Amino acid sequence: MTAQVIDGKAFAADVRARVAAHVARLGEEQGIVPGLAVVLVGEDPASQVYVRNKGVQTREAGMASFEHKLPAETAEADLLALIAELNADPKVHGILVQLPLPAHMNADLVINAIDPAKDVDGFHISNVGLLGTGQKAMVPCTPLGCLMMLRAHHGSLSGLSAVVVGRSNIVGKPMAQLLLGDSCTVTIAHSRTRDLAAVCRGADILVAAVGRPEMITADMVKPGATVIDVGINRIERDGKARLVGDVDYAGVSAVAGAITPVPGGVGPMTIACLLANTLTACCRANGLPEPE
Ligand code: NDP
Repeated sequence: MTAQVIDGKAFAADVRARVAAHVARLGEEQGIVPGLAVVLVGEDPASQVYVRNKGVQTREAGMASFEHKLPAETAEADLLALIAELNADPKVHGILVQLPLPAHMNADLVINAIDPAKDVDGFHISNVGLLGTGQKAMVPCTPLGCLMMLRAHHGSLSGLSAVVVGRSNIVGKPMAQLLLGDSCTVTIAHSRTRDLAAVCRGADILVAAVGRPEMITADMVKPGATVIDVGINRIERDGKARLVGDVDYAGVSAVAGAITPVPGGVGPMTIACLLANTLTACCRANGLPEPE
């Protein structure tokens, strides 16, 4: 068997096109331009790339992009003051503080200073609570993108057995909540899980969000399962820099029913969902119907 490739790039292009069309309508009919503010503190190279891509795609969707780049030594109080300004700015509908923050800052404090209605990353404790209790929330972009691809591939997820490997607040836990919301039977595995391979083999849907290159191997996958690879790992192979996921793509493709590649899977969907969340935040702020 060779797994069907779930083309995240194509899904993401579709989401971005739908967002752009809605943004254009908002402009024409209401004179409203959704705005996303992205705050980057310091010079982490991967973060710089992400922030640049987010700015480009925000503008391409017809939204306003406000980029704030602060030096690594910025005082926490100054960052909090900027967030307060953005919270009060009616042109800004979404605020994203790029993580990780420098070590002298308390990331929880900073994230919880964002107005929950503008928290397009869905990391504010209010949004975490809303998601956990099945209420309308801002949903973290990476798991939301995974869910959208899973729904499109499977139709209903009801009753399927899902295993999420990884329990971070930004991927693993919200992913598990979303799958539970779609009536999967959910297991969250992590570094202390006993016999991870056996746990994973029980999964109809296997989501890997670990940060370990190619650790999910074919023997850990139920034949026909859908495998979503969230991992982004930079490795060197044959003297070349390469990007690989948490899943051994070649091996697992021979067993799984469907699989997301890296790159071109979950990554592009993450930014597309950020744009979708910003549009949703803008519609809510203006009392307008939300996009589908
Ligand atoms: P974290 O480091 O915060 O969490 C990793 C999780 O994996 C932890 O829960 C950890 O367990 C678990 N883990 C580590 N080693 C093992 C192991 N040997 N067996 C089982 N579980 C293990 O990572 P993130 O959730 O932030 O990110 C995960 C991956 O996803 C990374 O590669 C990251 O780059 C990528 N990512 C990709 C995004 C995208 O847009 N595609 C967005 C965000 C992240 P424990 O809690 O016990 O330590």
